[in-house]
Amino acid sequence: MALRALVIGVGTYEANSGMSGYPTIETSARAYGDALARDPRWGDAGRSVILSGDAAYSADGVMRALHDAAAAGEGPEDILLVVYVGHGAYWKDVPGGQVHFAVGSSYQNEPWTWLSSWYVYRAIRQSRAGLKVLITDCCYSNLLPHLGPESPLPGILGTRSDGTCVFSAVSGNVHNASADACANLPSPLDGCTPFSGHLLNVLGQGMSEHDDDLTLGALRAGIDEDMQSCGVHDAPRMLLNDASEAAALFTNHAKGRRPPGREPQTEDDWVRELRLYGERKLRSLMLKPDLAGRVVVRLKSGDEQSRDLASRVERRAATLLANPVDFVRYWREIEPALLGGA
Ligand SMILES: [Zn+2]
Repeated sequence: MALRALVIGVGTYEANSGMSGYPTIETSARAYGDALARDPRWGDAGRSVILSGDAAYSADGVMRALHDAAAAGEGPEDILLVVYVGHGAYWKDVPGGQVHFAVGSSYQNEPWTWLSSWYVYRAIRQSRAGLKVLITDCCYSNLLPHLGPESPLPGILGTRSDGTCVFSAVSGNVHNASADACANLPSPLDGCTPFSGHLLNVLGQGMSEHDDDLTLGALRAGIDEDMQSCGVHDAPRMLLNDASEAAALFTNHAKGRRPPGREPQTEDDWVRELRLYGERKLRSLMLKPDLAGRVVVRLKSGDEQSRDLASRVERRAATLLANPVDFVRYWREIEPALLGGA
């Protein structure tokens, strides 16, 4: 199994670049490196590369390291993880409009000195790794599209069976990701940017009511809860494309874990179950078609991950609810919400 991680942390710029440097960015990159080294899944030498300072000075250097990491992926078991921490910008007046990532040689308002996310996406899509995850801790990361082939970006590469995940520090209409450290985090994470600091806190602490692996869904839920407890951070965003919430990314370090035992009962339980683990228990949910309908209505009114889950459940509902009476019970819950725009 080939696991490759590339962490890019760009916190220092030329003095006349007009760009503000932040020590939190390079501290975050180092902390990702420490977390990966501590994780038995990722700990073997050569699996993780951390680029910052001179190593992240040019777009050429970053892209060569990215292509090296992407080339290691050969099959469905393989994982490519790319983390970017730094400044992000968005230019509308380039083809299609693109988020751009800063490198050490970037200048403010000079898009050609930045690394277009188009090139980063292109390199990640070319990887044959079965799971490709891009974590972006930068401004305008809310505007990054899906990594998968349904993305509006042209130049479709990779195959449809490949799972992808884009996890961004900001969501909705919030463009600015904070680079100021969060004092609520334990040392040394109180020197990181808030999104990365909280993400790394969840990795370090683990999640007690969870299995041996931290899945994409668990990580997202854990970060949401950890950031909400501070009461000052914007909500992050996760986009999945042919990847399930149940895909394992890290080892769960929580002590005294209690794997989730009882079957979800309420609407709340099911929404959480789906957001953490994807559709693994969908057949059980569909045994209660009216509850399933209400859960879909709830998911439809949620964030992008929830709305995406609702579509996945809807696509499978007709097959799983083979009895027309059951389908009517399910649909009776959804139809009023659709008509009422609720
Ligand atoms: Zn915080």
